[in-house]
Amino acid sequence: SYSELEQATGKFSDEHLIGIGGTSKVYRGQLSDAKVVAVKKLRPLGGEDEDLEFLSEVELLSRLNHCHVVPLLGYCLESQSRQLERLLVFEFMANGNLRDCLDLKGRKPMDWATRVGVALGAARGLEYPHEAAAPRILHRDIKSTNILLDDQFRAKITDLGMAKCLMNDGVTSCSSSPARMLGTFGYFAPEYAIVGKASLKSDVFSFGVVILELITGRQPIHHHRPPAAAGESLVMWAAPRLRDSRLVVTEMPDPAMQGRFPEEEMQIMAHLARECLQWEPESRPTMSEVVQILSTIAPRKA
Ligand code: ADP
Repeated sequence: SYSELEQATGKFSDEHLIGIGGTSKVYRGQLSDAKVVAVKKLRPLGGEDEDLEFLSEVELLSRLNHCHVVPLLGYCLESQSRQLERLLVFEFMANGNLRDCLDLKGRKPMDWATRVGVALGAARGLEYPHEAAAPRILHRDIKSTNILLDDQFRAKITDLGMAKCLMNDGVTSCSSSPARMLGTFGYFAPEYAIVGKASLKSDVFSFGVVILELITGRQPIHHHRPPAAAGESLVMWAAPRLRDSRLVVTEMPDPAMQGRFPEEEMQIMAHLARECLQWEPESRPTMSEVVQILSTIAPRKA
């Protein structure tokens, strides 16, 4: 119930705040049985069918059951002082999101084997809704802050809240409501930015950006930049709404790890990223193919 979760998170106090997302705040909570969980408190939208939308999101999330997808443990939909409160309770991921783990912040840089393991885990977590769910499900907002790491640095995909079931033609178009165009600049595919066409292959594009992030340690996103410097390749797209946007992708290895990545494996990863970032959706690999390639370089236990 709401009051139970309120208590578990110290009344949603800042002390318990572990993340702020586009649509929510996420708190660490301890349930009465001592289990630690992540409580995602969605920002009220005030829409008419807010409760129905929420319940269909819950329904979708609870159908997903995979070791590389952050499991939904419960939810709460309750009116509190005339406001509809929507809470989602997830398994707590001790190492937070991948982006924060790549930013050093005094920690030692993530070693190569961990990076490859994270790439493979996340790839499996995305392959699952793409291939195993019926109907197939698109994520639509793959990025490093939506890949969470548990205490063993096992990667799990989260934030499938805006995921969409795929239509029969394999493409979902959201241009009917451009105001609700979802996704994150720097990650979404050109065809999605330009004509609002999302497909399994637009998720693959976003995943390619994440692979480069794992290699370079940096968020490979810069707007309006002059031609690429050495070691950078440029993915350019002229999106009307994003005027002359460029995605500058650095392929230079994480400076914190200079010389400590195995060259051959790194080249395989960089090549895979380039394949995922192809302009034409059809030229990009499927997530199953991505998983297969990553398995050839990942350590056995992963
Ligand atoms: P939004 O959907 O509003 O963008 P997210 O689901 O992306 O919110 O969560 C925002 C941040 O909160 C994440 O990047 C992560 O740092 C943190 N977070 C979310 N879920 C968990 C979890 N289960 N365990 C630990 N941290 C989490």
